Amino acid sequence: MRWFCTAHDADMRGVLCTNCVRLAETVLAMVAGITMNGASNGVRKRVETQMGAASGMSGDGKHIILADPRGFCAGVDRAIATVQTIVKTAHPHSGLPPVYVRRQIVHNRHVVDDLAAQGAVFVEELSEIPDDAVAAGVPVVFSAHGVSPQVQAEAKRRGMFIVDATCPLVSKVHREVLRFVREGYEIVYIGHRGHDEAVGVVGESPEHVHLIEHEDDVADLDFRPGQKLVLLTQTTLSVDETAGVVAALKKRFDWIEEPPSSDICYATQNRQTAVKTVAERAQCVVIVGSANSSNSVRLMEVAQEALGERGRAHRVDDAAEMDPAWFEGVDTVGVSSGASVPDSLVDGVVEALRPLGFTDVSYVETVKENMHFVLPAALRKR
Ligand code: SF4
Repeated sequence: MRWFCTAHDADMRGVLCTNCVRLAETVLAMVAGITMNGASNGVRKRVETQMGAASGMSGDGKHIILADPRGFCAGVDRAIATVQTIVKTAHPHSGLPPVYVRRQIVHNRHVVDDLAAQGAVFVEELSEIPDDAVAAGVPVVFSAHGVSPQVQAEAKRRGMFIVDATCPLVSKVHREVLRFVREGYEIVYIGHRGHDEAVGVVGESPEHVHLIEHEDDVADLDFRPGQKLVLLTQTTLSVDETAGVVAALKKRFDWIEEPPSSDICYATQNRQTAVKTVAERAQCVVIVGSANSSNSVRLMEVAQEALGERGRAHRVDDAAEMDPAWFEGVDTVGVSSGASVPDSLVDGVVEALRPLGFTDVSYVETVKENMHFVLPAALRKR
């Protein structure tokens, strides 16, 4: 049966790319009438080995278990599509790039390099964008992590054509800050100091937003009883990750309020749940993601916690960073990727593991995601 992509089959020397796996699994499930909702704990496991029969694999090899969901989230998809759309539809200005992007559009080196190769120019600060580009109306994209009002103000002052690719879930936290400040609250914000998202959120009201990272930081806070107090969090943290800090906050300030709905993003939580499930069945886990990607680093930590003494979790930017020694004596490797990582990089990891005997590939799906964000308004108006 060859309903899957024959080109990938050939290219991958018998190992299917993950998109083909999904397509073929879907077809298999449709043909067999398989119900995916079997497990009572809410975790749905797709048990078909990866096309073993269809691709001629024996299933005798060592195992790779892919975590699903993994990779791109809706916010990253939207941010990348934003830059790509501008590049594709740009009117050529002599000697000027089609688009400037402030900071890494998403925290992944490969994504940034790829967009740069298509013509996008990445800058750290708006001051690096020349006046003639601004005058010519070259668009400037704000990254998925958002910016502070100070950056917005500078862009406005210089008359820039801004396309804001801030993830809508991050924008929601910005709006919460403004609303709570208006209502007289002090805000305790759990986040990573220096992360672009945290810088943008705190920048909304530096005098009223108190950033803390760890339980120990709670001791440095000082609010009088009766002070209206609310807790907000960086979207890329997880419930598990913040639990200790939240407990310490509630112990010290038992009147602190939480927002009506959690700030923690669905994609972060889903990827952590999936990698935990995979790590529990493996002796080694490889997370694909960049070192400055908060959610990729956290995925590695979650995987390590689930592995315990049984093995090690490693984070790599791509397959080239893997060390074959990691897999000595390992029978099953779990693989996942951060929310800013293209699946082609995961395919590369699967391919690199194949010569080491890891030829049997399956995956565990813990939830099906169907989130999608439309492109920024500035593009839809064009
Ligand atoms: Fe948005 Fe969540 Fe993706 Fe961050 S991880 S860009 S908050 S969807």
